Amino acid sequence: MPVLVMKFGGTSVATLDRIKRAAKRVGLEVAKGYDVIVIVSAMSGETNKLVGFVNETSPLYDAREYDAVVSSGENVTAGLMALTLQEMDIPARSWQGWQVPVQTTSAHSSARIEAIPTDNISAKFNEGMKVAVVAGFQGISPEGRITTLGRGGSDTTAVAFAAAFEAERCDIYTDVDGVYTTDPRISSKARKLEKISFEEMLELASLGAKVLQTRSVELAMRYKVKLRVLSSFEEPSEEAGTLVCAEEEVMENRPVSGIAYSRDEAKMTLVDVADKPGIAAAIFGPLSEAGVNVDMIIQNVAEQGLTDMTFSCPTDQVLRAQKALNDAKGRGDINFQELIADTDVCKISAVGIGMRSQSGVAAKMFKTLSEEGINIKVIATSEIKISVLIDRKYMELAVQALHDAFELEKL
Ligand code: ADP
Ligand code: ASP
Ligand code: MG
Repeated sequence: MPVLVMKFGGTSVATLDRIKRAAKRVGLEVAKGYDVIVIVSAMSGETNKLVGFVNETSPLYDAREYDAVVSSGENVTAGLMALTLQEMDIPARSWQGWQVPVQTTSAHSSARIEAIPTDNISAKFNEGMKVAVVAGFQGISPEGRITTLGRGGSDTTAVAFAAAFEAERCDIYTDVDGVYTTDPRISSKARKLEKISFEEMLELASLGAKVLQTRSVELAMRYKVKLRVLSSFEEPSEEAGTLVCAEEEVMENRPVSGIAYSRDEAKMTLVDVADKPGIAAAIFGPLSEAGVNVDMIIQNVAEQGLTDMTFSCPTDQVLRAQKALNDAKGRGDINFQELIADTDVCKISAVGIGMRSQSGVAAKMFKTLSEEGINIKVIATSEIKISVLIDRKYMELAVQALHDAFELEKL
């Protein structure tokens, strides 16, 4: 039987009624003759609540116990979805990550999937089971402990299953009807894209468009998974949603395809560090060991052998970063006058493969922001993206202004 993977995000399984509605969609695909692997998220809000419990109990938590707690939301929805399907006379069974087993690295709270043996679930399909409901976002480490895949990780579970089972398609059901030129919740002018290339989706996701987890796009690109994003609230149709596909399949030639934002950025500045060989390693080594995801970095011009080093990281890692740097200072590995944390910034990015061949995108972006009176704090570019760090209070304004400037509503 051909296999189909259907992933339902938090809002699509937020209540028992919504689980029923999702199960009906699964039933339609079973009726077409598919063996279906359903990947479920936790009910919306549930993972946030669990993360809150962990932070309140232990701000610098042991990530193994974080995973033990936050993975549990998916267990509930997996069981409920299997029961709902059974009530519809569809043979279904739920699977937690360790039961499959979804084998991951032991990088707790942001583990990577290493392998998904297909034998257990395939054997059940052969015995007549029609739907395997798998708890997304979770796996098991080589040490036998529960791991999670980072926020939004159920998308990655879905694509990894689609690759392992050579599924005909991987459908990501969410609360918007596709991938838009920017977050439709921020701009009413956002346009739905019929298709988007893997490369652009990868950048948009990694720059904050949480509609797909970055790693899921990476996997889809590597294993050529046919990936579709669609709404679980709209009537089923073959053409619904956005197809994430190879660059050659996207016909339009546009300099910018989308604007992404990331609200939860922090800018950290080490004031007056010695400008000498090895200093960057002495700063960023401990940060990496502490699990801080450093994004943008700038080092100022040195004066009298001293310089300022600025970097950005997610706001929820500021505590860890401060501890790592103060510990390094305490050991005498680095020296600085002051460590300033600015947690009121956000990152805005323009993404498009057209940037490779069309110049002037950066200039237009900077001019647009300056016309709105928005000061740029840090800039980073790559082949197909330009990102800036700005004050968070200008986030919506910047997204709207750039969306207008690049005429994305006309795409
Ligand atoms: P789920 O719970 O289904 O995984 P998420 O909340 O993780 O859903 O992702 C869907 C959300 O992604 C949308 O509600 C939307 O606000 C946001 N989003 C951000 N950027 C985009 C974009 N470019 N296109 C579509 N949705 C986007
Ligand atoms: N429930 C997890 C989260 O909220 C995983 C997911 O929904 O993809 O991050
Ligand atoms: Mg998500």
